[in-house]
Amino acid sequence: MTLEIVTIPCRTDNYAFLLRDQATGKVALVDVPESYPIQKALQDRGWKLDMVLLTHHHYDHVDGLPELVEEYHPQVIGAKADANRLPPLDLALNEGDTFTVGETEGHIIDVSGHTIGHIAFHFPTAKAVFTADSLMALGCGRLFEGTPEMMWASLSKLAALPVDTLVYSGHEYTASNAKFALTVEPENTALQARSADITAKRAAGIPTVPSTLKEELATNPFLRAHLPEMKTAVGMETASDVEVFAAIRKQKDDF
Ligand code: ZN
Ligand code: FE
Repeated sequence: MTLEIVTIPCRTDNYAFLLRDQATGKVALVDVPESYPIQKALQDRGWKLDMVLLTHHHYDHVDGLPELVEEYHPQVIGAKADANRLPPLDLALNEGDTFTVGETEGHIIDVSGHTIGHIAFHFPTAKAVFTADSLMALGCGRLFEGTPEMMWASLSKLAALPVDTLVYSGHEYTASNAKFALTVEPENTALQARSADITAKRAAGIPTVPSTLKEELATNPFLRAHLPEMKTAVGMETASDVEVFAAIRKQKDDF
């Protein structure tokens, strides 16, 4: 483990994450839904904040930034494509660019779809990817700005990461995502088992984030639109992968 990762529940159902590089003690934060729980998590551990990584411009991912900037003066990193509507950035990056948290290298993946310019932060040596409102535990973000083609391309990039990668998404939506997923693929036994596990975790107040990419590939309907068994399950045997993805996304919008 090259990064120690702390999950911080914020607002009603958001997550922020603190990432501490073990070698140097440098600390990065992924998203700022609000400031107080993050300040508290830092204070409790005696950590300072060196960097903030912003996934996208929605208020529930940036709202607490001013207070943290005032207190810690972190370097703020976000997507160059979205710099015009993100808070002021110290470093604006594109897909394929790399940066470091201490000695741990991070990679930018463009995951447009929920918004255009949404990025994910992938740390290969830590086997972790921070996906916010693109790939979510058993779901994916609503398409506010992008097309189904865009989101399917984004999810396909994430799906190609090593299967033992931990997926840190931005919201605790998993229980309702599970209900929907079961309507799409009621016969999926891995999904049935995961759904039961999610119910137990939520009853105990335990976050369902992160999940492994392996679990998502086996159970997340939005990662499975290309599979013959999914096309059969939704009665779209001859449709393209994107058409199937778009149909499942539309069903979820109306769920
Ligand atoms: Zn969002
Ligand atoms: Fe969000």
